[in-house]
Amino acid sequence: MMRSPIVAGNWKMNKTVEEAVEFVNQIKNHLPNPDVQETVLAAPTIALVPMVKAAAGTPLKIAAENCYYQDAGAFTGETSPTTLYSAGIHHVILGHSERRKLFNETDHLINLKVHAALDAGLCPIVCCDETMGRRVAGKKVHWVVSRILADLKDLKPENVDKVTIAYEPSWAIGTGESMDPDQAEEGCYLIRQTIADMYGDTIANNVRILYGGSVNSDNINQLMASQDIDGVLAGGASLDPQSFLKLVNH
Ligand code: PGA
Repeated sequence: MMRSPIVAGNWKMNKTVEEAVEFVNQIKNHLPNPDVQETVLAAPTIALVPMVKAAAGTPLKIAAENCYYQDAGAFTGETSPTTLYSAGIHHVILGHSERRKLFNETDHLINLKVHAALDAGLCPIVCCDETMGRRVAGKKVHWVVSRILADLKDLKPENVDKVTIAYEPSWAIGTGESMDPDQAEEGCYLIRQTIADMYGDTIANNVRILYGGSVNSDNINQLMASQDIDGVLAGGASLDPQSFLKLVNH
């Protein structure tokens, strides 16, 4: 089975609109053919529409970093998945560990958001974190499995392979300390097996699973050589155009 790889950047709450557009202009003519590898860049909401315009006609796909689970209504400050999709945004990151930790997002809320994003036509990138404490205490397996069971609950089988999972150990995010590729592969394999238990082998074999946590141009090749790692989600290394291009053209 051929899963086309994804290199995705997550800017988090960084860059002005002007900087975001300038970044897109600098990279857009240096990206791989999307049939060989997809390139995705997640940015703050206010920069998304100008970025979509700047990236028009190029392989670059623009992603939101969050959305709500309702289409419209009295939800001050939230962004509707339908509004994102209608503006040319293809992907949305959901359940990043920063949103779970700082904004108290639960698996239940994330599951609602995954459903809403898919209904709107977006491809969710669902993050599955894991703390060092749980790993050391031997609770990793239970944690990862229960996150996936909850976040991907009750999806229409035909929608499951539109979801991408990002396995991101919290202790590796933003620390410069990436996970050992064998351990990263183990986590991604576990996620794939869980999806297979939920939706069957064929669907699980089509789902792309990314690794995230201090990915850089020195470790990307080893990580992406692993069987169950179909790409990366990079934060810090996606902030500079040259550094992001090194990941994309690794
Ligand atoms: P990092 O962030 O690459 O800076 O560790 C990854 C992420 O938070 O998605």
